[in-house]
Amino acid sequence: MKEHIFLASPHMSEEGYEQAYIKEAFDTNWIAPLGKNVTEFEKEMAAKLGAKAAVALSAGTAAIHMALKAVGVGQGDLVFCQDLTFSATANPILYEKAVPVFIDSNEETWNMDPQALRQAFEKYGKLGRKPKAVLAVHLYGLCAQIEEIADICKEQQVPLIEDAAESLGTTWQGRYTGTFGDYGIISFNGNKIITSSGGGMLLVNTPDAQEKAAKVLYWSTQAREPARWYQHTEIGYNYRMSNIVAGIGRGQLKVLEQRVGEKRAIFSYYQQHLGGLPGVCFMPMREGSQSNCWLSCVQLADSCPVKPLDIMKALEEDDVESRPIWKPMHLQPVFAGYDFIPAGGLERKMLQVTDTEMGADSSVSGQLFEHGVCLPSDTKMTSGDLERICGVVGALWRA
Ligand SMILES: *Cc1c(COP(=O)(O)O)cnc(C)c1O
Repeated sequence: MKEHIFLASPHMSEEGYEQAYIKEAFDTNWIAPLGKNVTEFEKEMAAKLGAKAAVALSAGTAAIHMALKAVGVGQGDLVFCQDLTFSATANPILYEKAVPVFIDSNEETWNMDPQALRQAFEKYGKLGRKPKAVLAVHLYGLCAQIEEIADICKEQQVPLIEDAAESLGTTWQGRYTGTFGDYGIISFNGNKIITSSGGGMLLVNTPDAQEKAAKVLYWSTQAREPARWYQHTEIGYNYRMSNIVAGIGRGQLKVLEQRVGEKRAIFSYYQQHLGGLPGVCFMPMREGSQSNCWLSCVQLADSCPVKPLDIMKALEEDDVESRPIWKPMHLQPVFAGYDFIPAGGLERKMLQVTDTEMGADSSVSGQLFEHGVCLPSDTKMTSGDLERICGVVGALWRA
């Protein structure tokens, strides 16, 4: 029997750091959404990444929601949001009854195209409208053109929120993703590079970071006023991370760099062993950036005799997990009717349907979706596992 291979699964430290922090929480009976692990986890993460403040929350999605509230997004407001992403990036915009405008990616980074972002500002500027926030993502641990995007936001005086849920540990010019925007968010969901069994964190980088963090802490703990009785002047949320969960997170933070090294080694292995196959193109590694390689992804050229679905099916038959690239938001039925700003010049403006079954189109994000595969990137894989995966994939070219 061959062993099941996961796309990405929790990988606790060999040293047992996580259990030591949990034991301490049990021993002191801090089994609640407060306690030393929570506050220490925030301090350790902020110090590690170089953020001014951090708030530990129940999920990365909750962190995005809180970031949107912190910049004042409300009913009817525009938010310029990356199109190619997981729906959790965009959903909180709708929690606040705001209006997303989806911005296409470019092939160089797979992330928000600064040129398309400029076009969105021009288009809505002509209508006398300005977004309340720009929400950019570092997909699969690939660094977005975050300096260009931040410059545009500064010029337009619009706050930038960085969804670094998949890119914890990724750097640009030596600085960690999540610290370039006014707000950054990270996720500790079970499949992310480190996990707390589920959780997230908001990073605050504004000049008034402590004040903003305090406000988010207030909203995320039911908006309780400092009174003897339960007094409320605002709607609150139950979004705080628990002390047990934070204990796992603290232990995992100690092995973050190790995990980044392992993920990068997986990517190199695939490059070496699959890079020579005709039509295979790996996700772009930008000079100046060090990617955490959360998932190793490839694109298959139109001319390629093998299609993404062939790879996914062959791996599945061998009990190996893989997955398509995120389906873009502008192609999701739930977001139909919201505006989309395509990248890549005029010829791309006339979007053509290119795959009716997948619902893909000729936009850059649509093409990345149609041609892409995420290969298994579990840090617990052995070299034998990697050999097995490359054997299955390589065989498709020899068939
Ligand atoms: C995982 C993820 C999120 C959401 O994080 P959760 O902790 O699962 O709520 C948001 N954005 C992206 C891009 C993600 O991959």
